[in-house]
Amino acid sequence: MSFDLSARLAARRAEHLYRQRPLLQSPQGPEVVVDGQPLLAFCNNDYMGLANHPDVIAAWKAGAERWGVGGGASHLVIGHSTPHHELEEALADLTGRPRALLFSNGYMANLGAVTALVGQGDTVLEDRLNHASLLDAGLLSGARFSRYLHNDPDSLSSRLEKAVGDTLVVTDGVFSMDGDIADLPALAKVAKAKKAWLMVDDAHGFGPLGANGAGIVEHFGMSLEDVPVLIGTLGKSFGTAGAFVAGSEELIETLIQFARPYIYTTSQPPGLACATLKSLELLRTEHWRREHLNALIKQFRDGAQAIGLELMDSFTPIQPIVIGDSGRALRLSQMLRERGLMVTAIRPPTVPAGSARLRVTLSAAHSEAQVRLLLEALEQCYPLLETSESVETYHA
Ligand SMILES: *Cc1c(COP(=O)(O)O)cnc(C)c1O
Repeated sequence: MSFDLSARLAARRAEHLYRQRPLLQSPQGPEVVVDGQPLLAFCNNDYMGLANHPDVIAAWKAGAERWGVGGGASHLVIGHSTPHHELEEALADLTGRPRALLFSNGYMANLGAVTALVGQGDTVLEDRLNHASLLDAGLLSGARFSRYLHNDPDSLSSRLEKAVGDTLVVTDGVFSMDGDIADLPALAKVAKAKKAWLMVDDAHGFGPLGANGAGIVEHFGMSLEDVPVLIGTLGKSFGTAGAFVAGSEELIETLIQFARPYIYTTSQPPGLACATLKSLELLRTEHWRREHLNALIKQFRDGAQAIGLELMDSFTPIQPIVIGDSGRALRLSQMLRERGLMVTAIRPPTVPAGSARLRVTLSAAHSEAQVRLLLEALEQCYPLLETSESVETYHA
Protein backbone atom coordinates (compact mmCIF):
# COMPACT_ATOMS: atom_id res chain seq x y z
CA MET A 1 0.00 0.00 0.00
CA SER A 2 1.34 3.38 -0.91
CA PHE A 3 -1.04 5.44 1.18
CA ASP A 4 0.22 5.24 4.76
CA LEU A 5 -2.64 7.15 6.33
CA SER A 6 -2.18 5.63 9.77
CA ALA A 7 1.37 7.00 9.95
CA ARG A 8 0.18 10.46 8.93
CA LEU A 9 -2.59 10.39 11.50
CA ALA A 10 -0.24 9.14 14.22
CA ALA A 11 2.24 11.93 13.46
CA ARG A 12 -0.56 14.48 13.65
CA ARG A 13 -1.52 13.15 17.09
CA ALA A 14 2.06 13.16 18.33
CA GLU A 15 2.35 16.87 17.46
CA HIS A 16 -0.86 17.75 19.35
CA LEU A 17 -2.33 18.81 16.03
CA TYR A 18 -5.01 16.18 15.67
CA ARG A 19 -8.44 17.65 14.91
CA GLN A 20 -11.73 16.42 16.26
CA ARG A 21 -15.20 17.71 15.57
CA PRO A 22 -17.18 18.55 18.69
CA LEU A 23 -20.79 17.40 18.13
CA LEU A 24 -23.21 20.30 18.60
CA GLN A 25 -26.52 18.96 19.84
CA SER A 26 -28.37 22.25 20.21
CA PRO A 27 -28.87 25.39 18.11
CA GLN A 28 -25.94 27.81 17.93
CA GLY A 29 -25.72 30.32 20.78
CA PRO A 30 -23.98 31.08 24.07
CA GLU A 31 -25.57 28.07 25.82
CA VAL A 32 -25.05 24.92 23.84
CA VAL A 33 -24.96 21.16 24.30
CA VAL A 34 -21.77 19.61 22.96
CA ASP A 35 -20.98 15.88 23.10
CA GLY A 36 -23.77 15.46 25.63
CA GLN A 37 -22.52 18.24 27.92
CA PRO A 38 -24.26 21.60 28.49
CA LEU A 39 -21.63 24.31 27.98
CA LEU A 40 -21.30 28.07 27.91
CA ALA A 41 -19.55 28.69 24.61
CA PHE A 42 -17.23 31.49 23.50
CA CYS A 43 -16.10 30.26 20.11
CA ASN A 44 -18.67 30.75 17.36
CA ASN A 45 -18.64 33.57 14.79
CA ASP A 46 -22.28 34.52 15.33
CA TYR A 47 -21.18 37.96 16.56
CA MET A 48 -24.59 39.60 16.29
CA GLY A 49 -26.47 36.67 17.84
CA LEU A 50 -28.66 36.13 14.76
CA ALA A 51 -28.03 32.46 13.91
CA ASN A 52 -30.96 31.32 16.03
CA HIS A 53 -33.09 34.49 15.96
CA PRO A 54 -36.85 33.77 15.79
CA ASP A 55 -37.48 36.39 13.08
CA VAL A 56 -34.71 34.94 10.90
CA ILE A 57 -36.09 31.42 11.39
CA ALA A 58 -39.60 32.67 10.51
CA ALA A 59 -38.26 34.38 7.37
CA TRP A 60 -36.59 31.14 6.27
CA LYS A 61 -39.78 29.16 6.85
CA ALA A 62 -41.90 31.69 4.97
CA GLY A 63 -39.30 31.76 2.19
CA ALA A 64 -39.46 27.98 1.83
CA GLU A 65 -43.27 28.12 1.68
CA ARG A 66 -43.16 30.78 -1.01
CA TRP A 67 -40.16 29.70 -3.07
CA GLY A 68 -39.65 26.01 -2.30
CA VAL A 69 -36.41 24.55 -0.96
CA GLY A 70 -33.82 23.88 -3.66
CA GLY A 71 -32.21 26.49 -5.91
CA GLY A 72 -32.64 23.92 -8.67
CA ALA A 73 -29.98 25.18 -11.09
CA SER A 74 -27.02 27.52 -11.36
CA HIS A 75 -27.62 31.28 -11.50
CA LEU A 76 -26.87 31.45 -15.22
CA VAL A 77 -29.35 28.72 -16.10
CA ILE A 78 -32.57 29.13 -14.11
CA GLY A 79 -31.46 29.21 -10.45
CA HIS A 80 -31.28 33.01 -9.98
CA SER A 81 -34.53 33.74 -8.19
CA THR A 82 -36.21 36.87 -6.86
CA PRO A 83 -34.96 36.52 -3.24
CA HIS A 84 -31.35 36.12 -4.47
CA HIS A 85 -31.75 39.25 -6.54
CA GLU A 86 -33.33 41.24 -3.71
CA LEU A 87 -30.56 40.15 -1.36
CA GLU A 88 -27.93 41.34 -3.85
CA GLU A 89 -29.62 44.73 -4.01
CA ALA A 90 -29.78 44.97 -0.21
CA LEU A 91 -26.08 44.03 0.07
CA ALA A 92 -25.13 46.66 -2.51
CA ASP A 93 -27.11 49.18 -0.49
CA LEU A 94 -25.46 48.13 2.80
CA THR A 95 -21.98 48.43 1.35
CA GLY A 96 -22.63 51.58 -0.71
CA ARG A 97 -21.41 49.80 -3.83
CA PRO A 98 -23.20 49.84 -7.20
CA ARG A 99 -23.70 46.08 -7.18
CA ALA A 100 -23.20 42.88 -5.22
CA LEU A 101 -23.05 39.25 -6.31
CA LEU A 102 -24.23 36.40 -4.10
CA PHE A 103 -22.06 33.29 -3.72
CA SER A 104 -22.73 30.00 -1.94
CA ASN A 105 -19.99 30.57 0.65
CA GLY A 106 -16.95 32.67 1.39
CA TYR A 107 -14.43 30.12 0.24
CA MET A 108 -16.01 30.11 -3.21
CA ALA A 109 -16.41 33.89 -3.34
CA ASN A 110 -12.69 34.26 -2.71
CA LEU A 111 -11.67 31.60 -5.24
CA GLY A 112 -14.07 33.10 -7.75
CA ALA A 113 -13.02 36.72 -7.37
CA VAL A 114 -9.25 36.16 -7.35
CA THR A 115 -9.15 33.65 -10.21
CA ALA A 116 -11.46 35.79 -12.37
CA LEU A 117 -9.30 38.88 -11.90
CA VAL A 118 -5.72 37.63 -12.18
CA GLY A 119 -3.95 34.78 -13.96
CA GLN A 120 -0.62 33.94 -15.57
CA GLY A 121 1.44 37.06 -16.16
CA ASP A 122 -0.27 38.93 -13.31
CA THR A 123 0.59 39.35 -9.63
CA VAL A 124 -1.28 38.68 -6.42
CA LEU A 125 0.11 40.02 -3.13
CA GLU A 126 -1.37 38.83 0.15
CA ASP A 127 -0.97 39.54 3.84
CA ARG A 128 0.85 36.57 5.31
CA LEU A 129 -1.92 36.04 7.88
CA ASN A 130 -4.76 36.01 5.34
CA HIS A 131 -7.50 33.41 5.61
CA ALA A 132 -6.66 30.05 3.99
CA SER A 133 -9.29 30.55 1.28
CA LEU A 134 -7.53 33.70 0.09
CA LEU A 135 -4.14 32.02 0.03
CA ASP A 136 -5.60 29.04 -1.85
CA ALA A 137 -7.26 31.43 -4.31
CA GLY A 138 -3.96 33.20 -4.95
CA LEU A 139 -2.14 29.94 -5.59
CA LEU A 140 -4.90 28.59 -7.83
CA SER A 141 -5.01 31.75 -9.95
CA GLY A 142 -1.67 31.02 -11.59
CA ALA A 143 -0.56 34.62 -11.00
CA ARG A 144 2.79 35.35 -9.37
CA PHE A 145 2.05 34.97 -5.71
CA SER A 146 3.84 36.63 -2.85
CA ARG A 147 3.04 37.33 0.78
CA TYR A 148 3.90 40.61 2.48
CA LEU A 149 4.54 41.08 6.20
CA HIS A 150 1.43 41.24 8.32
CA ASN A 151 -0.42 44.54 7.87
CA ASP A 152 2.78 46.23 6.70
CA PRO A 153 2.37 48.85 3.92
CA ASP A 154 6.18 49.15 3.50
CA SER A 155 6.53 45.44 2.93
CA LEU A 156 3.64 45.62 0.46
CA SER A 157 5.22 48.58 -1.26
CA SER A 158 8.53 46.81 -1.84
CA ARG A 159 6.71 43.81 -3.34
CA LEU A 160 4.66 46.10 -5.56
CA GLU A 161 7.93 47.38 -7.05
CA LYS A 162 8.54 43.94 -8.53
CA ALA A 163 4.95 43.24 -9.56
CA VAL A 164 4.13 42.39 -13.17
CA GLY A 165 0.84 42.56 -15.08
CA ASP A 166 -2.42 43.37 -13.33
CA THR A 167 -1.82 43.36 -9.60
CA LEU A 168 -4.29 42.41 -6.91
CA VAL A 169 -3.52 43.17 -3.26
CA VAL A 170 -5.55 40.96 -0.95
CA THR A 171 -6.15 41.31 2.77
CA ASP A 172 -8.52 40.17 5.48
CA GLY A 173 -10.46 43.15 6.91
CA VAL A 174 -10.51 41.79 10.45
CA PHE A 175 -7.87 39.07 10.80
CA SER A 176 -9.77 35.95 11.69
CA MET A 177 -7.36 34.41 14.20
CA ASP A 178 -5.88 37.58 15.74
CA GLY A 179 -8.82 40.00 15.73
CA ASP A 180 -6.76 43.01 14.65
CA ILE A 181 -7.88 45.01 11.64
CA ALA A 182 -6.12 45.83 8.40
CA ASP A 183 -4.64 49.31 8.05
CA LEU A 184 -6.80 49.91 4.99
CA PRO A 185 -6.08 53.62 4.50
CA ALA A 186 -2.34 52.94 4.28
CA LEU A 187 -2.69 49.77 2.20
CA ALA A 188 -5.09 51.48 -0.22
CA LYS A 189 -2.72 54.41 -0.67
CA VAL A 190 0.22 52.15 -1.48
CA ALA A 191 -1.88 50.02 -3.84
CA LYS A 192 -3.37 53.00 -5.66
CA ALA A 193 0.06 54.57 -6.20
CA LYS A 194 1.02 51.45 -8.18
CA LYS A 195 -2.36 51.08 -9.90
CA ALA A 196 -2.95 47.81 -8.07
CA TRP A 197 -6.43 46.83 -6.94
CA LEU A 198 -7.18 46.23 -3.29
CA MET A 199 -9.45 43.31 -2.38
CA VAL A 200 -10.70 43.10 1.20
CA ASP A 201 -12.30 40.00 2.71
CA ASP A 202 -14.30 41.39 5.62
CA ALA A 203 -15.87 38.14 6.81
CA HIS A 204 -15.46 39.19 10.46
CA GLY A 205 -15.96 42.94 10.10
CA PHE A 206 -19.53 43.01 8.81
CA GLY A 207 -21.77 43.31 11.84
CA PRO A 208 -19.38 44.51 14.55
CA LEU A 209 -17.64 47.29 12.61
CA GLY A 210 -19.09 50.48 11.16
CA ALA A 211 -21.97 52.60 12.38
CA ASN A 212 -24.46 50.41 10.47
CA GLY A 213 -22.54 47.16 10.58
CA ALA A 214 -21.16 47.60 7.07
CA GLY A 215 -17.74 46.56 8.29
CA ILE A 216 -14.23 47.88 7.85
CA VAL A 217 -14.97 50.01 4.77
CA GLU A 218 -17.65 51.84 6.73
CA HIS A 219 -15.34 52.05 9.77
CA PHE A 220 -12.66 53.83 7.71
CA GLY A 221 -14.99 55.42 5.14
CA MET A 222 -13.29 53.69 2.20
CA SER A 223 -14.73 54.35 -1.24
CA LEU A 224 -15.14 52.05 -4.21
CA GLU A 225 -11.93 53.55 -5.63
CA ASP A 226 -10.03 52.70 -2.43
CA VAL A 227 -11.40 49.15 -2.22
CA PRO A 228 -12.60 48.02 -5.65
CA VAL A 229 -13.27 44.43 -4.50
CA LEU A 230 -15.11 43.88 -1.23
CA ILE A 231 -16.00 40.43 0.10
CA GLY A 232 -18.42 39.64 2.89
CA THR A 233 -19.63 36.31 4.22
CA LEU A 234 -23.09 35.56 5.53
CA GLY A 235 -22.32 32.63 7.85
CA LYS A 236 -20.83 34.83 10.57
CA SER A 237 -22.57 38.03 11.74
CA PHE A 238 -25.50 37.54 9.37
CA GLY A 239 -26.16 34.22 11.09
CA THR A 240 -27.11 32.39 7.88
CA ALA A 241 -24.91 31.13 5.01
CA GLY A 242 -23.41 32.36 1.78
CA ALA A 243 -21.15 35.23 0.78
CA PHE A 244 -20.97 38.16 -1.59
CA VAL A 245 -18.65 40.31 -3.65
CA ALA A 246 -19.51 44.01 -3.80
CA GLY A 247 -18.08 46.43 -6.34
CA SER A 248 -18.60 48.20 -9.64
CA GLU A 249 -21.04 47.24 -12.35
CA GLU A 250 -18.11 46.06 -14.48
CA LEU A 251 -16.60 43.98 -11.69
CA ILE A 252 -19.85 42.13 -11.06
CA GLU A 253 -20.46 41.55 -14.77
CA THR A 254 -16.89 40.22 -15.06
CA LEU A 255 -17.51 37.77 -12.22
CA ILE A 256 -20.77 36.60 -13.78
CA GLN A 257 -18.84 35.86 -17.01
CA PHE A 258 -15.60 34.43 -15.61
CA ALA A 259 -15.82 33.34 -11.95
CA ARG A 260 -15.99 29.56 -12.22
CA PRO A 261 -17.03 28.92 -8.59
CA TYR A 262 -19.98 31.24 -9.30
CA ILE A 263 -20.95 29.76 -12.63
CA TYR A 264 -20.60 26.05 -11.98
CA THR A 265 -22.63 25.59 -8.85
CA THR A 266 -26.28 25.46 -7.87
CA SER A 267 -27.68 28.67 -6.41
CA GLN A 268 -28.25 28.63 -2.66
CA PRO A 269 -31.80 27.82 -1.47
CA PRO A 270 -33.93 30.91 -2.17
CA GLY A 271 -35.55 30.72 1.28
CA LEU A 272 -32.07 31.13 2.76
CA ALA A 273 -31.79 34.46 0.95
CA CYS A 274 -35.13 35.43 2.58
CA ALA A 275 -33.62 34.60 5.97
CA THR A 276 -30.52 36.68 5.19
CA LEU A 277 -32.65 39.65 4.09
CA LYS A 278 -34.22 39.57 7.55
CA SER A 279 -30.91 39.21 9.40
CA LEU A 280 -29.42 42.01 7.31
CA GLU A 281 -32.24 44.27 8.44
CA LEU A 282 -31.62 43.33 12.11
CA LEU A 283 -27.85 43.73 11.74
CA ARG A 284 -28.29 47.18 10.23
CA THR A 285 -31.00 48.61 12.43
CA GLU A 286 -30.61 47.04 15.88
CA HIS A 287 -27.71 49.21 16.98
CA TRP A 288 -28.00 47.88 20.53
CA ARG A 289 -26.34 44.67 19.31
CA ARG A 290 -23.12 46.51 18.39
CA GLU A 291 -23.26 48.65 21.53
CA HIS A 292 -23.77 45.65 23.82
CA LEU A 293 -21.04 43.71 22.04
CA ASN A 294 -18.59 46.59 22.46
CA ALA A 295 -19.40 46.75 26.16
CA LEU A 296 -18.68 42.99 26.47
CA ILE A 297 -15.40 43.37 24.58
CA LYS A 298 -14.28 46.08 27.00
CA GLN A 299 -15.42 44.02 30.00
CA PHE A 300 -13.47 41.01 28.76
CA ARG A 301 -10.29 42.93 27.94
CA ASP A 302 -10.26 44.80 31.24
CA GLY A 303 -10.91 41.59 33.19
CA ALA A 304 -8.35 39.54 31.27
CA GLN A 305 -5.66 42.17 31.71
CA ALA A 306 -6.34 42.24 35.45
CA ILE A 307 -5.71 38.46 35.59
CA GLY A 308 -2.51 38.84 33.58
CA LEU A 309 -3.59 37.08 30.41
CA GLU A 310 -1.74 37.86 27.19
CA LEU A 311 -4.26 39.34 24.75
CA MET A 312 -3.76 40.53 21.19
CA ASP A 313 -4.12 44.03 19.79
CA SER A 314 -7.84 43.70 19.02
CA PHE A 315 -10.97 45.76 19.63
CA THR A 316 -13.15 43.31 17.70
CA PRO A 317 -15.18 40.36 19.09
CA ILE A 318 -12.17 38.11 18.36
CA GLN A 319 -10.10 38.16 21.57
CA PRO A 320 -7.44 35.43 21.44
CA ILE A 321 -5.48 34.45 24.53
CA VAL A 322 -1.97 33.62 23.35
CA ILE A 323 -0.48 30.46 24.86
CA GLY A 324 2.25 29.43 22.39
CA ASP A 325 2.58 25.70 22.80
CA SER A 326 -0.21 23.60 21.25
CA GLY A 327 -0.30 21.08 24.11
CA ARG A 328 -0.68 23.84 26.69
CA ALA A 329 -3.42 25.54 24.68
CA LEU A 330 -5.30 22.26 24.53
CA ARG A 331 -4.81 21.76 28.26
CA LEU A 332 -6.30 25.17 29.10
CA SER A 333 -9.22 24.54 26.77
CA GLN A 334 -9.76 21.18 28.50
CA MET A 335 -9.64 22.72 32.00
CA LEU A 336 -12.26 25.28 30.98
CA ARG A 337 -14.39 22.53 29.53
CA GLU A 338 -14.29 20.68 32.84
CA ARG A 339 -15.78 23.83 34.36
CA GLY A 340 -18.57 23.98 31.77
CA LEU A 341 -17.01 26.47 29.34
CA MET A 342 -16.11 25.96 25.74
CA VAL A 343 -13.29 27.94 24.11
CA THR A 344 -11.50 26.23 21.24
CA ALA A 345 -7.73 25.98 21.09
CA ILE A 346 -6.47 27.10 17.67
CA ARG A 347 -3.23 25.47 16.62
CA PRO A 348 -0.87 25.39 13.61
CA PRO A 349 -1.25 25.26 10.67
CA THR A 350 -4.29 27.50 11.20
CA VAL A 351 -1.98 29.90 13.07
CA PRO A 352 1.84 30.22 12.80
CA ALA A 353 3.99 27.68 14.66
CA GLY A 354 4.46 28.51 18.34
CA SER A 355 1.41 30.77 18.51
CA ALA A 356 -1.32 28.36 19.62
CA ARG A 357 -4.09 30.24 21.35
CA LEU A 358 -7.52 30.10 22.84
CA ARG A 359 -9.69 31.97 20.38
CA VAL A 360 -12.29 33.65 22.56
CA THR A 361 -15.11 35.18 20.56
CA LEU A 362 -17.85 37.35 22.00
CA SER A 363 -21.38 37.78 20.71
CA ALA A 364 -24.22 40.22 21.23
CA ALA A 365 -26.09 37.17 22.50
CA HIS A 366 -23.75 36.88 25.52
CA SER A 367 -24.62 38.58 28.80
CA GLU A 368 -22.28 40.45 31.12
CA ALA A 369 -22.82 37.68 33.70
CA GLN A 370 -21.64 35.08 31.17
CA VAL A 371 -18.47 37.05 30.41
CA ARG A 372 -17.89 37.29 34.16
CA LEU A 373 -18.15 33.47 34.40
CA LEU A 374 -15.54 33.14 31.66
CA LEU A 375 -13.18 35.54 33.44
CA GLU A 376 -13.62 33.72 36.75
CA ALA A 377 -12.88 30.36 35.14
CA LEU A 378 -9.80 31.78 33.39
CA GLU A 379 -8.59 33.23 36.67
CA GLN A 380 -8.79 29.77 38.24
CA CYS A 381 -7.41 27.76 35.33
CA TYR A 382 -4.65 29.93 33.92
CA PRO A 383 -2.31 29.67 36.95
CA LEU A 384 -2.82 25.88 36.97
CA LEU A 385 -1.38 25.76 33.48
CA GLU A 386 2.07 26.54 34.93
CA THR A 387 2.01 23.60 37.31
CA SER A 388 -0.09 21.11 35.35
CA GLU A 389 1.51 17.77 34.58
CA SER A 390 2.09 16.33 31.18
CA VAL A 391 -0.36 17.36 28.51
CA GLU A 392 -0.15 13.91 26.95
CA THR A 393 -3.38 12.70 28.56
CA TYR A 394 -5.21 15.66 27.14
CA HIS A 395 -4.32 15.49 23.52
CA ALA A 396 -7.42 14.94 21.47
C1 LIG B 1 -14.98 32.17 7.38
C2 LIG B 1 -14.13 32.90 6.42
C3 LIG B 1 -14.23 32.63 5.06
C4 LIG B 1 -15.04 31.51 4.51
O1 LIG B 1 -16.39 31.83 4.49
P1 LIG B 1 -17.45 30.66 4.45
O2 LIG B 1 -18.71 31.30 4.03
O3 LIG B 1 -17.50 30.09 5.82
O4 LIG B 1 -16.94 29.67 3.44
C5 LIG B 1 -13.49 33.42 4.19
N1 LIG B 1 -12.69 34.40 4.65
C6 LIG B 1 -12.55 34.65 5.96
C7 LIG B 1 -11.64 35.74 6.41
C8 LIG B 1 -13.27 33.90 6.89
O5 LIG B 1 -13.11 34.12 8.18
